[in-house]
Amino acid sequence: MNSHPSCPLQSPITTSSPLLPLSFPRRAGLSARRRESILSFIATIPRAGARGFLLFLLLLFSAIALPGCFRTSGSLPEPELTVPPVLEPARPRHETSIRTVTLGYSVQGKPLVMTVFGFGPNPIFIFGGIHGTEPTSAQLANRLVSLLRDNPQIWRNTPIAILPQANPDGLAKGTRQNINGVDCNRNFPANNWRTSRPGHRFYGGPRPLSEPETQAIVKAVQTLQPRFIVPIHSIPGGKYCNNYDGPARVLAEIMAQKNHYPVKASMGYPTPGSFGSWAGIDRNIPTITLELPREQPISRVWLANRNAILAAAQTHIGR
Ligand SMILES: [Zn+2]
Repeated sequence: MNSHPSCPLQSPITTSSPLLPLSFPRRAGLSARRRESILSFIATIPRAGARGFLLFLLLLFSAIALPGCFRTSGSLPEPELTVPPVLEPARPRHETSIRTVTLGYSVQGKPLVMTVFGFGPNPIFIFGGIHGTEPTSAQLANRLVSLLRDNPQIWRNTPIAILPQANPDGLAKGTRQNINGVDCNRNFPANNWRTSRPGHRFYGGPRPLSEPETQAIVKAVQTLQPRFIVPIHSIPGGKYCNNYDGPARVLAEIMAQKNHYPVKASMGYPTPGSFGSWAGIDRNIPTITLELPREQPISRVWLANRNAILAAAQTHIGR
């Protein structure tokens, strides 16, 4: 900081703010003659204490009555900022606890996007839409994603990961299989995988895990190490059920109390290379394959199963 010779009383003035450089305009000063007369008057005052007090009053007057002395100026170089930058306010935890993960891409290049709610080991893993002829399975999973986005209290202590569209090409085309004609739910590397005829409805692919959609789900399971898994499907003809593989009977019964679907240990037909075979039977991960009534619209399916899935999530069952 500096002072200008014409500024009243020649007092060097400083400021505590590093952002407001001061300058002292010549036009704001008193004339030399006037100044001398003031100083002479002060000198006539006999006591030093009184002179000091008068000097203080004059300083105060000049600060109030001569604002031009304190105008800011851009002519001086900006001092270096010493104020720390303003930090962004901390966001609520739930906003930063929702992540989307691209597990891979379908044969036609569509991203296979999983949304993960919350942190912590062994989340619940839910996926839908592995069969393109079962759109309500994807819709139910999508509604769950929306519900969880708006209600972080549900997953605050129970992390949940959801892949709504495991076979987006099949869903777009309306086919059970992926675009290679492979039934992804017969393409898992389960001990019971077996070769099958291309073009068949349950064609399991040229080899286990040949399809990118299947690979993405396996990757999710290996990464998440889920507590339990709910693959969502739909089935016609009144065969809807909570079908469990591995140590998941109690979870299936808890879901049944809400959706009132039968609990089944087997669908009654072989499912070589199915997800339930690979995850539930071979790997002993509790797996409840939720078979929705295919004839029912999503509005009804949602009402029946929303609380079924949440009830299972609120247990501490599973690994
Ligand atoms: Zn299915």
